[in-house]
Amino acid sequence: MLPVIALVGRPNVGKSTLFNRLTRTRDALVADFPGLTRDRKYGQADYDGYEFIVVDTGGIDGSEEGIETEMAEQSLLAIEEADIVLFLVDARAGMTAADQAIAQHLRRQEKKSFIVANKTDGIDADSSCAEFYQLALGDIHQIAAAHGRGVTQLLEATLGPI
Ligand code: GDP
Ligand code: MG
Repeated sequence: MLPVIALVGRPNVGKSTLFNRLTRTRDALVADFPGLTRDRKYGQADYDGYEFIVVDTGGIDGSEEGIETEMAEQSLLAIEEADIVLFLVDARAGMTAADQAIAQHLRRQEKKSFIVANKTDGIDADSSCAEFYQLALGDIHQIAAAHGRGVTQLLEATLGPI
């Protein structure tokens, strides 16, 4: 069984850009994965030797209500069925209330979760990313999904060296 990696985060942080990069080497949409729905997009990835199933989600909108209403149901399901959760945040936009709500949900799960700060191209990434340590989910993994920066290092950190 390949490990299942879910991409979650609020809209516009770059989940689909990362999904497309991870699956680009193959015509990879998985049609017969158990639990397939049109709200969660599954791809098979073979990236730098790392093989896994990756799940894109539509995004989790931030509202002032409780986490159940803030997190789209399909994102909650994607988290549930995943072995590993990559929680994307936007290094340019900075931390938002939606990011904090998602982090709170993930901290309560027994799930390997990693914070991934995307869009680190062309900015002072270390200082932009420092505030995300407040989300209390460990290290901040810096990437630029649009350019591929940091993606292999992210997979090594999440799946282990190969
Ligand atoms: P999603 O809503 O989380 O799926 O986000 P998308 O993948 O649709 O990306 C939202 C926007 O962010 C698009 O305009 C992307 O081109 C842009 N974007 C994604 N990754 C990067 C990146 O690494 N650097 C920069 N500068 N922009 C990015
Ligand atoms: Mg998307």
